[in-house]
Parts: sequence; C-alpha cells; structure tokens
Amino acid sequence: MVEAAREALGRLVRDVVDFPEPGIVFKDITPLLADHAGFTAVVAGLAAAGRDTDGLPVVDKVVGMEARGFIFAAPVALALGVGFVPVRKVGKLPGETHAVAYALEYGEATLEVHRDAIAPGERVLVIDDVLATGGTARATVDLVEACGGEVVATTFLMELSFLPGRAALGAVPVTALAVI
Ligand code: AMP
Repeated sequence: MVEAAREALGRLVRDVVDFPEPGIVFKDITPLLADHAGFTAVVAGLAAAGRDTDGLPVVDKVVGMEARGFIFAAPVALALGVGFVPVRKVGKLPGETHAVAYALEYGEATLEVHRDAIAPGERVLVIDDVLATGGTARATVDLVEACGGEVVATTFLMELSFLPGRAALGAVPVTALAVI
C-alpha cells in the first residue's frame, strides 16, 4: 500500500522550479489530486500512520493544516472512522481558539484551533503535504497540546530532508511517504 503511494508521488507530483520565489522547488500536488488511483493510494498510505499492526485505528482525531493539509487529513479521518479538526490561519475560526505564532522565512504567521475541537487526553494524528522547516507542524503540535491532546504521530506526503523539519518536531514521531 505504501509502495503504491510512493509510486503515485513519484509519477504525479510536479517540481516547479523558482516558485513562489527564486531558489524554491515547489512540490505541485495538483496532478496527484486529479488522479483517482493516485489520490486513493496516498490517502491509504497516510492513514496507515493512524493504525496499529492489526490495522485498527489508534487515534481519536486527525488534524490538518490550512490549506493543503485539509485535502489529505479529511479523507484520512473518514478512512480511520474518526473526526477531522482544521488548524486555520488566524481570524478564520468563529469560536474560542488557542493560537500559536511561529517564524516564517520572512516575518511571522499565526495558526489557530478551536479550544473544544480536541478533548483532553485525545490521541491525535497530524497531517500535512510537505514537511519543510517544520514551523507549521511544530505550531500545530503545540496547538493540539494546548487543548490537552496528545500527538501520537505526524505524517506527510513528502519530507524535505535537507531542511530541519524533523528536528523541529523533537520527540514527536514523524513519518513521510517520500523523503526527498
Ligand atoms: P514549513 O512550515 O517550513 O515546514 O512549511 C510547510 C508548509 O509549507 C506546508 O504546509 C507546505 O504546504 C508548504 N511548503 C513548504 N515548502 C514547500 C515546497 N517546496 N513545495 C510545496 N509546499 C511547500
């Protein structure tokens, strides 16, 4: 199953050089999303991070980050039979939130989650498309923990191993379908 996901990533993710700015190789996932078999394979591969060796779900919630994390985390939540929780850019959620600010290459960004979206003690799987510097994922882990949840796994389509994303997550378990 993970092999099928890796094959799909190799075939259907497009490298776009110097986008959105010079020096960045942007991983364009839109061809993958447009391919039913490929999209199905990566959702199954990501969902494996939320199952035990018998295939049973080991998480209570799947968290995805705006915007591309939503595309993968929501179907993974359905596959596991658990709820999906969105982590959103600041100012989008109408209820009481926890907020975490984190550094970008230039400046700062803030992510939010509804305080009541994750109950204390719930076990959480965090999903995004790309792990780069790890700032987004680290902020998301901090938000889950602010709710009292426990991040049991983080999983990504692609990990850019020349960047320090894994180190930013410290002791939090990290897997990726492809390591680049
Ligand atoms: P970071 O916080 O640096 O780990 O960046 C992760 C976020 O930025 C993810 O939500 C990705 O969608 C996006 N991202 C970072 N680098 C790339 C890249 N080379 N191609 C596509 N998306 C990227």
